[in-house]
Amino acid sequence: MDIIKNIVEIREHLPDDVKIVAVSKTHSPDTIMQLYNSGHKIFGENKVQELLEKYEAMPKDTEWHFIGHLQSNKVKYLVPFIKMIHGIDSFKILETVNKEAKKQNRIIPCLLQFHIAEESSKFGLTEEEAFDILDSEEYKSLKNVSVVGVMGMATLTGDKEKIRKEFRFLKRIFDNIKKEYFPRKKGFREISMGMSEDYQIAVEEGSTIVRIGSSIFGPR
Ligand SMILES: *Cc1c(COP(=O)(O)O)cnc(C)c1O
Repeated sequence: MDIIKNIVEIREHLPDDVKIVAVSKTHSPDTIMQLYNSGHKIFGENKVQELLEKYEAMPKDTEWHFIGHLQSNKVKYLVPFIKMIHGIDSFKILETVNKEAKKQNRIIPCLLQFHIAEESSKFGLTEEEAFDILDSEEYKSLKNVSVVGVMGMATLTGDKEKIRKEFRFLKRIFDNIKKEYFPRKKGFREISMGMSEDYQIAVEEGSTIVRIGSSIFGPR
């Protein structure tokens, strides 16, 4: 598996302003270092313990994105260094990130995760739940988190039109939230959607961050 060739090829077919998060879960620091040394420094992990081990092993200017389901009791371990948390799916978790970030004097960029797929197993908010959070006084008092966009995962299916509709739905949610809550916030700009099998469709539908694992590192 020539992982450098893989990411170079993916990069060539993406607009310059689309960020690639290389999803390195299950892969060793040695493997990840190969990409780092080639100049790619943005990585994503979905398990806190695994991420902490890799954080320790890798150079400190590596950008780590947390892309998994986050439990409140583990937030404090990520807050010192995490670059972005993609999977905010409740007010409670946002509040916990804020509380820990305040202790450590940081402002953490966060994405609200939406349920856009058919499968019931995938985490995420509905649009109404997100509006309720963003309307609340409790949310408005949080000073150590910055909501910078949205994240979602499409249904695992070969039906490209279905995937496209789900990504289009997430883009519409992004546009609605932007208009309603963040019309003047330049930082509210991220749409994290698209994985190995569907990132091309995601980018056509407005993705700004793709999270790609197996197309870079090979099968897990
Ligand atoms: C594993 C994972 C990815 C990457 O999946 P690939 O199909 O290997 O590209 C992207 N996003 C999330 C949330 C993941 O857990």
